[in-house]
Amino acid sequence: MSARILVVDDVAPNVRLLEAKLGAEYFDVVTAMNGVDGLARAVESQPDLILLDVMMPGMDGFEVCRRLKTDCKTSHIPIVMVTALGERSDRVRGLEAGADDFLTKPLDDLELFARVRSLVRLKMMTDEFRLREETSHALGMPEFEVGSLGADIEGARVLVVEDLPSDVARIRDSFASHYNLVSETSCDEALTLARGGAFDLIIVSLSLTGGDGLRLCAQLRSAEETRQVPILVFGDGDRGRVIKGLEIGVTDYLMKPLDRNELFARCATQVRRKFYQDRLRANYHRTIELAVTDPLTGVYNRRYFTHHLETLTRSGRDGATRFALLMLDVDHFKVVNDTYGHDAGDRVLKEFASRIGNSVRSADLVARFGGEEFVVVMPDADLNAAARVAERVRGRIADVPMAKNGSGQGIPLTCSIGVTVGYPDEDPQAAIKRVDDALYAAKAAGRDRVVTRA
Ligand code: GH3
Ligand code: MG
Ligand code: MG
Repeated sequence: MSARILVVDDVAPNVRLLEAKLGAEYFDVVTAMNGVDGLARAVESQPDLILLDVMMPGMDGFEVCRRLKTDCKTSHIPIVMVTALGERSDRVRGLEAGADDFLTKPLDDLELFARVRSLVRLKMMTDEFRLREETSHALGMPEFEVGSLGADIEGARVLVVEDLPSDVARIRDSFASHYNLVSETSCDEALTLARGGAFDLIIVSLSLTGGDGLRLCAQLRSAEETRQVPILVFGDGDRGRVIKGLEIGVTDYLMKPLDRNELFARCATQVRRKFYQDRLRANYHRTIELAVTDPLTGVYNRRYFTHHLETLTRSGRDGATRFALLMLDVDHFKVVNDTYGHDAGDRVLKEFASRIGNSVRSADLVARFGGEEFVVVMPDADLNAAARVAERVRGRIADVPMAKNGSGQGIPLTCSIGVTVGYPDEDPQAAIKRVDDALYAAKAAGRDRVVTRA
């Protein structure tokens, strides 16, 4: 994992030391010796992380941090404040100024690389989503507000795997009013809980008497449900085990005896990042959903259907098989609009789409092809099977009138359906043409019927 890191410190030996340490781990290091230069370098070099000294003559680290976080050219860059030993109040002030993490001088290598790697990883992920967002924006999709990293931590679900009652009590004392806390002493139980529990943070002690905390961390990292959940471990002085943990993907660590303020600050940082990533991911999925679904009926849109058909017919695709294609068109839909109004027409279309969806398998894809015309793609189905499904759909439309707003009689509706089979390596337009011909024949033969075309 290579990344560019900006080091801002007024003491030359400090800068050189960090430059050497980070350089040895193949980070690309940029430096600045005062706050004003730091701001300029951050803008021009666009680092992935900034290590920022608090005590500097002129503009101090807090002010630099505040300015970086309010400038849209730098606000997305994570900042680690480097504070002097023992100045706990500086840490709190740093976090208030918008810093993402803090380190204490003299710098400990393990700490330095743990924090740096964890933040760089987060930055990479955030960049990826920012890029996707730009793309979807360029494609005309709306932008959603994700807010900033510094959002609330209230209500987070935290799982604590610790068997030392005094430490569990300490965590409870400092967290209970903010977090939804679950504690567990057995690793097996914890793994089961974690996989089903949608936690925002998992804390694992590396000094459990009845289990191996590191093994649990490895299992949490490989399970699909917990892969993205931050893990914070408690080390008991054995640095080798903490290093091992960071290698297998543990997000952060704390050494015992636990310092209450630091415990709280570190957990809050992890929870905040988790919430932020959740929001980014949710936004991304919303954008994707909007891009591929029809807003009125909620089924896939024509663009998605076209891509899907191209994929199914792409030559040389693994596991390619034939597929059935249905095209359905509401009969005399103009009359529905003319008689009951356009809004009622819309509701009828929604119900029409939902009845189709309920009549096919979940592997079948339903899409709105246009106006009152829909398509269904059925993977691995032959013409006879598809014709049976089409007949079932036709019946479910014709047999029960569509609901009308309020009480009273429903709106009777029928539809015509064309059915064909498409083949891998075939031109998708040829399959569409065939099914369209079949639909046209169904209309010509009197509507409310299914016609197949091999
Ligand atoms: P046919 O049996 O030949 O298919 O007759 P039809 O009236 O269904 O077909 P036609 O293509 O003449 O008319 C389709 C109508 O569907 C006209 C159009 O206003 C209406 N329509 C298309 N999209 C929507 C929609 O989103 N909402 C509503 N309410 N009506 C729509
Ligand atoms: Mg029609
Ligand atoms: Mg039509």
